Amino acid sequence: MHSVSKSHKIFETETMFSNTLPANVDEQLDELTEEAADCARETGMVGKFNGLERKNKRLEHVSFSLLPISINEEILNSLIELQPYVNELIHSASIDRDFIVNSLQSLADIDDYVGTLLSIYKELKPEKTSRIPVLLFMRVDYMLAYDELTNTESPKHIETSSGAPAFAGVAGQKIRNIHARMLRILGMQESIPRLPNNKCTETLAQSFVKAWECYGNPKAVITFLVSDNTQLIFDRRPVINEIYEQNQEIKIRMKYFSKISGRVDIRNCKLFIDNEEVAIVFFSAGRSAKHYNEKLWKVRRDIELSNAIKCPTVGQSLASLKAMQEVFARPQVLERFLEASVAEKLRKTYAGFHNLDMTEAGDLSVEMAIKNPQNFVMKPQRDGECCNVFGEEIAEVLKKIGDDRSRSAYTLMNRIIPKPRLNYFVESGSARKEELIPEIGIFGVLIASGKTIVQNKCGDYFIRAKLKDSNEASVYDSMACLSSPIFE
Ligand code: ADP
Ligand code: MG
Repeated sequence: MHSVSKSHKIFETETMFSNTLPANVDEQLDELTEEAADCARETGMVGKFNGLERKNKRLEHVSFSLLPISINEEILNSLIELQPYVNELIHSASIDRDFIVNSLQSLADIDDYVGTLLSIYKELKPEKTSRIPVLLFMRVDYMLAYDELTNTESPKHIETSSGAPAFAGVAGQKIRNIHARMLRILGMQESIPRLPNNKCTETLAQSFVKAWECYGNPKAVITFLVSDNTQLIFDRRPVINEIYEQNQEIKIRMKYFSKISGRVDIRNCKLFIDNEEVAIVFFSAGRSAKHYNEKLWKVRRDIELSNAIKCPTVGQSLASLKAMQEVFARPQVLERFLEASVAEKLRKTYAGFHNLDMTEAGDLSVEMAIKNPQNFVMKPQRDGECCNVFGEEIAEVLKKIGDDRSRSAYTLMNRIIPKPRLNYFVESGSARKEELIPEIGIFGVLIASGKTIVQNKCGDYFIRAKLKDSNEASVYDSMACLSSPIFE
């Protein structure tokens, strides 16, 4: 097992690529932007935009920052070192039935999405599921909290997504190489070694190959269940290409989740989709209440109860809910799963949570949030849908909810105040100067069979940078852009 060697070192922020830019960028801006946008399109850093029908959507590069963004090397490395423990935490929690049920039962009573997941989870027979291999693929997102007094930054955990978190294909080494090209054009070759390499695509693909081998039938396929909205298609393609590269035998199928009902069959506990045995189901769709109807919930249940490898399992989906962050942050909870010294390090990355249960403590949290809403973020149990509530709106929402128990379906978190960096935001081939806020997403992969861990590692990272005045950080809605780190 890895060891976490250093506590988070704080970082001096007055550096190049933080609040100043190389002097010759402005005069070469058109040349740099054209080169970078062409490289982005050529290398497949693209998505489909415009909200039109799928076939009419315009292919364009995903927004990106023209230059790398300053990130402290020790901070990034400390998060990379921590990741196997976070993998272990989510995996161990996901198979700890008492813990999951006790932590989420009251939420399940008021949130249909959580309720349905939990009811499927309760149907699982531990003695059976412990024999089915598990593939956990996750991304843990952090922001950098800025302390004005000491002019320092420290990483704070924002969210854990498990299952099919985005950006392992479209970003990674591609954006790093564009930034290296920019430095070369600017005559700053000596800075290129400060751009770390990023192997996230390869690591994720490797974990698929390994999990497929664990399943043990070379004829069984890997099936990606995808949404009809194909913005992310070019994020998945590089992963698929890499799986094919690494293993000549594997076959991968792409199926629209919305059209899967009636085509799923369980024979002898084995999962068949369109009469083909499935080794791994990757839920790129099906991670949100809005992807489901009654028939599709039945499909999710059938798949979950089958012997196929599910990515994510229902247990992993539950263990990564925003509400679980608040549970993990309670005293002694991390210690249930991790060594005390590791638990302490992980806890340092937590920003602070407040319970909104229908208790006296919950009432006090509500009072505090209404008084100073600018200090908090209120999150429902949704993933990547821009449903969070910020600032004054928190007070409005809480007043409107009043004493209704639906308030406990939210998680209340302390708001992190970051320090922006100056850069250029490149969108559809044009660049504009913007102050950007970096967010670091660390990928983790774990393969296990019950409590036996077969593989557990960090799969590098994804950096995005959001516009200073944007609360949310959706890249495909141009609130944020892809970026890559430059070490100071
Ligand atoms: P989701 O991605 O499911 O919408 P997140 O928890 O990742 O939900 O939040 C979305 C975005 O909101 C984050 O990427 C970040 O930019 C911002 N955000 C989330 N939590 C905080 C926080 N505690 N303080 C400041 N900004 C936050
Ligand atoms: Mg998020």
